[in-house]
Amino acid sequence: MARKHEGHVVGIDLGTTYSCVAVWLEEKNRVEIIHNDEGNKITPSFVAFTDAQRLVGGAAKDQAAINPQNTVFDAKRLIGRKFSDPVVQKDILLWPFKVIAGVNDKPTISVKYKGQEKLLCAEEISSIVLTNMKEVAEAYLESPVKNAVVTVPAYFNDSQRKATMDAGAIAGLNVVRIINEPTAAAIAYGLDKRSNCDGERNIFVFDLGGGTFDVSLLTIKGDVFEVKATSGNTHLGGEDFDNRMLNYFVKEFNRKNKVDITRNPRALRRLRTSCEKAKRTLSFKLVTAIEIDYLYEDIDFSTSLTRVKFEEINMGLFNECMKIVESCFVDSKMDKGGVHDIVLVGGSSRIPKVQELLRNFFNGKELCKSINPDEAVAYGAAVQAAVLSEGIKDVPNLVLRDVTPLSLGISVHDDRIMNVVVPRNTSVPFKMTNQYLTSKDNQYSALIEVYEGERAKVSDNNMLGFFRLSGLPSVPRGHPLDVCFAIDENGILTVSAEERSTGSKNEITITNDKERLSRVEIEKLIQEAKEYHAEDEKFLRKAKVMNALDDCIYKLRNALKNKNVKLKLSFQKNKKINHAITVAKDLLHEKNQGNEVDVLEDHLKELESMLDHLVIKTV
Ligand code: ADP
Ligand code: MG
Repeated sequence: MARKHEGHVVGIDLGTTYSCVAVWLEEKNRVEIIHNDEGNKITPSFVAFTDAQRLVGGAAKDQAAINPQNTVFDAKRLIGRKFSDPVVQKDILLWPFKVIAGVNDKPTISVKYKGQEKLLCAEEISSIVLTNMKEVAEAYLESPVKNAVVTVPAYFNDSQRKATMDAGAIAGLNVVRIINEPTAAAIAYGLDKRSNCDGERNIFVFDLGGGTFDVSLLTIKGDVFEVKATSGNTHLGGEDFDNRMLNYFVKEFNRKNKVDITRNPRALRRLRTSCEKAKRTLSFKLVTAIEIDYLYEDIDFSTSLTRVKFEEINMGLFNECMKIVESCFVDSKMDKGGVHDIVLVGGSSRIPKVQELLRNFFNGKELCKSINPDEAVAYGAAVQAAVLSEGIKDVPNLVLRDVTPLSLGISVHDDRIMNVVVPRNTSVPFKMTNQYLTSKDNQYSALIEVYEGERAKVSDNNMLGFFRLSGLPSVPRGHPLDVCFAIDENGILTVSAEERSTGSKNEITITNDKERLSRVEIEKLIQEAKEYHAEDEKFLRKAKVMNALDDCIYKLRNALKNKNVKLKLSFQKNKKINHAITVAKDLLHEKNQGNEVDVLEDHLKELESMLDHLVIKTV
């Protein structure tokens, strides 16, 4: 039985491009998807830095075109990865912001903030997004939120999951559970279907979002959701469609105007935004126009795009999606005819061609679209959160079972062969001990390397970590060693080894912490996040006072023009008020922006009391 948590536990879909937060409302006995302060249920996973402040969500995305180098998005593509990872190297080419190699090959984002270089890791960017989602929920619930269930793509490996938990910690959130996005979507869907679900139900979840593509086969039997197989690509989604469109239009612009805009980040960003908009429109219409004034210097860009052309540009990627769908069935050895429901998740699953290909794959079977594809994941996370909350009654009693997305294994001998211990798609939580034999006489120690991946040679797989088990007894080769693999319910792996013949336990646990943030670093970042928050608040407070001051000057000036006031006001008083206005104007002047907010507030109070007096005189 899972430990229960007090207070609200929210569900957060921390998306590559958009994030969404939801909560189970006990009084209404249902999930509420929470609006942000702009009234939207999904918030762009964007963070921006300017000379004056830090921006998050829509505010950050909206200014991306004028501040491309300091507007960070796609942090989820970086989280838990190494700088030298080819995926990262490829992504960097497309990003307008700078990413450099940090300590231990950790990707580090470099931005300019308040005129100075600021270095951030992906966990920090994600923590800012999470903090924003936490605040959206707090504003709605009118109480602090400390706990959350956060979702990740099914294909996230151990280090990506851990890094996501770290991001939560920096945001001051206790991540009570990490669940796979398709699983969350299935929970949301399964709830709807439960009433007419007798026996076993096989559900195929097709999640095509902005940055990632996940497919999963799940079985619902009574209250139990079991993930049978997962497949996907962490680098396939709406942004890739946008990129293809972008390349297409860059060429068109070049052809028409003999200008290459690829070195102009601002122009690229504006064109990209228009591409995304056009793409959305083409899910509902057959043709759309793209009009951008002054795209490059004084050259406007005006063109149109048909749905057919859009499909042609992206057909390769759509086919890629279908290949992955197929591989999921090969893995699971399930016949596609056995699928009861095909669930669409993710904004890009709205694309008609994608739906058509999917329907054809399932021989014309209708697709289920009753759940809003942008909200399904957060919805399911909120249900899972309710299950893990203290004192919520009437939550369906779900038991979740996830599977490992990649095979896990070790290399113990010099042969560099992958010995699979946990095959991919094994249900978690999981614990297993295997025995290995030493390969040399009088072997004093054994090097145990842990890998994930499907290839036979370990060098083709991804090394998660290694450790040495030493102090082995002096005996001939073939001496047994116990190696234990344990995966907890968050999909996080611990490997330990033991030599039992001597009776002395010699157990080592893989920490796999090389590129992970240390406790000290997290503490430091939490502190920094708090400082940021305080700075943001101060900025807002200052902005408010400055507005009020400006407003007050305007009203005072108007009041001074009033005939009654003029008659009643002494020369001295008049002079004093005019002086106060001059001071206020000076305070608002650009060169004096460094003033402390208290100074502004004090002066505002003075002006306000003057205004009150004048208003009394006018009547
Ligand atoms: P993620 O979870 O990866 O952040 P979402 O599921 O929120 O992503 O989907 C975002 C993606 O969906 C974006 O690339 C967006 O352009 C795309 N999208 C949203 N609405 C539509 C639509 N009507 N037609 C096509 N694509 C869409
Ligand atoms: Mg998503």
